Amino acid sequence: MAESRLKELLKPYPSVLLEEGRDLTKLSTMRLKAIGNLITISSVDDVKLVLPLLKKENIKYRLLGWGANQLLPKESNVPYITLALPFDKNYFSEVREEYDLPASVSLSIMSSHAVKNGLKGWEVFTGIPASLGGAIFMNAGTNLGEICSIVKEVTLVDSNGNLKVEKIDDDSFSYRKNYFVKPGDVIVSAKLIHLGQLPEITNQIKEYLALRNRTQPLKESTCGCIFKNYNKTSEICRAGMFIDIIGLKGFTHKDIQISPKHANFMVNLGDSNLDDIGKTIDIVKKELMLQYGVEFETEVKLE
Ligand SMILES: Cc1cc2nc3c(=O)[nH]c(=O)nc-3n(C[C@H](O)[C@H](O)[C@H](O)COP(=O)(O)OP(=O)(O)OC[C@H]3O[C@@H](n4cnc5c(N)ncnc54)[C@H](O)[C@@H]3O)c2cc1C
Repeated sequence: MAESRLKELLKPYPSVLLEEGRDLTKLSTMRLKAIGNLITISSVDDVKLVLPLLKKENIKYRLLGWGANQLLPKESNVPYITLALPFDKNYFSEVREEYDLPASVSLSIMSSHAVKNGLKGWEVFTGIPASLGGAIFMNAGTNLGEICSIVKEVTLVDSNGNLKVEKIDDDSFSYRKNYFVKPGDVIVSAKLIHLGQLPEITNQIKEYLALRNRTQPLKESTCGCIFKNYNKTSEICRAGMFIDIIGLKGFTHKDIQISPKHANFMVNLGDSNLDDIGKTIDIVKKELMLQYGVEFETEVKLE
């Protein structure tokens, strides 16, 4: 059988791992049945090399971090790029003024460092499953704040293979949104700060984690909140509360259930796919529109 164009293109670069027709089900936290081509890149130099190769061939691609905010299609027609950049955990053996971290580092290891050292500012991402790159792309946050408040600089590779450094300011982000990652850009690293060391931060993180455990279905297959909260004349309308009030907690379509624990979470109870959750999202959206006249936007990325 003839080699695929993608395989041919990447063959001269053995450090770039291509897995064609790979089962991607376990690469997203929602665990939707999915198959696709996966390119794993382990150095910034390889990112700089691969992106222009794909661009030249007009091959579009998507980034996959922890897959905690993406709903993967049954069969993707574009390859996924995932980063596995080197990181020595000993980097966190001391408190630093500034942290230069690869995009593939997990927020959970950063959180452990914050708990140990009472890093003020780092409590904002408590309990969010994510890679740093995915968290920056999404401006991930909690009731304690958003990650943008501690990001100083982001380094990206554009589709031509050029490195760009983005200095973060007040216009770089808004709620669950960034304004500087252009189509085809890959975030490869970021400089983060903290706002000092405070012993009470350690407890705050632990208590917030315990609260999340009590109120969210963290042991099940979900993608976090489905809908963004709605900001109306400075009053925040919580999507979960609205869904709860109209009695949709526990509603099930095929194997997708609106979590009885938190109405803005949908749980994959079995072998669901993108069509199943897409349909469930549509049903809820229509109900919300009917009952409140409000169009809630999805927070999760439906590819
Ligand atoms: C149980 C649970 C709880 C959650 N709670 C929260 C919460 O409290 N607050 C919150 O904000 N979110 C929450 N989420 C959602 C999710 O954790 C965040 O959106 C997170 O930032 C996603 O990071 P990721 O690495 O999984 O990115 P992915 O889901 O893989 O990707 C998200 C987006 O970022 C892009 N992307 C990823 N990496 C890169 C990169 N290196 N360069 C360029 N683009 C990139 C992707 O293309 C995609 O568009 C929760 C999810 C779950 C499952």
